[in-house]
Amino acid sequence: MPSSHDDVVIGAGILGLAHAYHLANRGRRVLVLERDPRAQGASVRNFGMVWPIGQPEGPPRDLARRSAALWKSVLEAARIWHDPSGSLHLAHRDDEARVLREFVEGSEQGHPYRWLDPEEVRKLSPSVNRRGLLGALFSPEEVCVDSRDVLARLPSWLASELGIHFRFDTPVTAVEPGRVIASGDPIEAERIWICSGDETRVLFPKLLRACGIVRCKLQMMRSEPIGPPGSLGPMLAGGLTLRHYPAFQRCPGLPALSARITQESPWFDRHGIHVMVSQTRLGELTIGDSHEYGDELGPFDKAEIDNHILEYLRGMLDIPGLRIASRWHGTYAKHPERTHVVLEPRPGIRIVTGVGGAGMTFSFGLAEALVNEVLSPR
Ligand SMILES: Cc1cc2nc3c(=O)[nH]c(=O)nc-3n(C[C@H](O)[C@H](O)[C@H](O)COP(=O)(O)OP(=O)(O)OC[C@H]3O[C@@H](n4cnc5c(N)ncnc54)[C@H](O)[C@@H]3O)c2cc1C
Repeated sequence: MPSSHDDVVIGAGILGLAHAYHLANRGRRVLVLERDPRAQGASVRNFGMVWPIGQPEGPPRDLARRSAALWKSVLEAARIWHDPSGSLHLAHRDDEARVLREFVEGSEQGHPYRWLDPEEVRKLSPSVNRRGLLGALFSPEEVCVDSRDVLARLPSWLASELGIHFRFDTPVTAVEPGRVIASGDPIEAERIWICSGDETRVLFPKLLRACGIVRCKLQMMRSEPIGPPGSLGPMLAGGLTLRHYPAFQRCPGLPALSARITQESPWFDRHGIHVMVSQTRLGELTIGDSHEYGDELGPFDKAEIDNHILEYLRGMLDIPGLRIASRWHGTYAKHPERTHVVLEPRPGIRIVTGVGGAGMTFSFGLAEALVNEVLSPR
């Protein structure tokens, strides 16, 4: 009997959904298999920041920009909340202002970035802590999505608009060319796309172990609503973030800033902390994060990490009585040198993983490129 699916996608995280979207747009009959009753991995645990500014100029930022454009068109078509609010990198110290100005001045021709003085910052972002504020870098390109909402609602839109089939609560335990075993039953398809996030122990475990990806655990928090959605203004980052994203590595002032932070507050290095804030469609703030790498990431969160994050946050934001409503951690798979990892263990089988802390940002753009590679560009 001929198979009723052209493509099986394993995993209903954002990479799985983005692949399913592009495949179905190319006329393929797609089935998505997700082991949990709904996606519960990194894709629902993040800030919801689609963040081109974090990527270095050149192909990574171009891909992130393409992805942001795709995100907007999908969310508009599906009528899912999102806020193209852009981002602000705040400078409360001289070395931070220096790096941010260097970033603007050294950016490619026609760049969209602007250095704002404190009054301009306050107009855009009334909750920013004005004590010691020297200014901020504004970028209009970043898009805020509410990850929980997107991952819950996108599957039914993909099903009704593009005819994609979904089976939740359906773990895949084996994959071979043309066939997967899902919940004990065989399912046939011409191609199989494995988008299983940081789950590296079930499908092709030896290959995944050997490819150099590492797991990372991040602690996060969400506040009670601080006002209507959008009241925060652009999504926020501070001085610690300048050390985190490769985009700022070209700034001559970065080593001095980095050394000052290491000397003044070594706990940020110890826990890989940098502090960012976004706002959900319900007005809550999503706050994080820390980075702990390795194979033996414990199940327990550290109160010390949350305290350091909140202390730093108080220097960025002035919101009296801010209350934390929930805390969690997420994990992702990251490759130390590459933006993503694509493996082809057997003909017709592709593993797409290792997108690290930029998987939301890259998702729709990366999936488009990879689907085009296999089906040839339109
Ligand atoms: C705390 C945190 C904050 C982050 N913030 C951001 C951000 O703001 N912006 C950004 O760009 N990126 C961010 N990231 C990174 C981003 O969230 C991830 O890169 C991205 O979500 C990875 O998507 P994925 O689909 O590969 O993995 P996942 O979301 O983990 O999805 C994988 C899915 O596959 C399923 N699965 C696994 N194995 C099987 C199997 N055998 N059978 C069936 N199903 C299976 C899992 O259940 C899961 O639902 C953050 C990550 C974390 C953890």
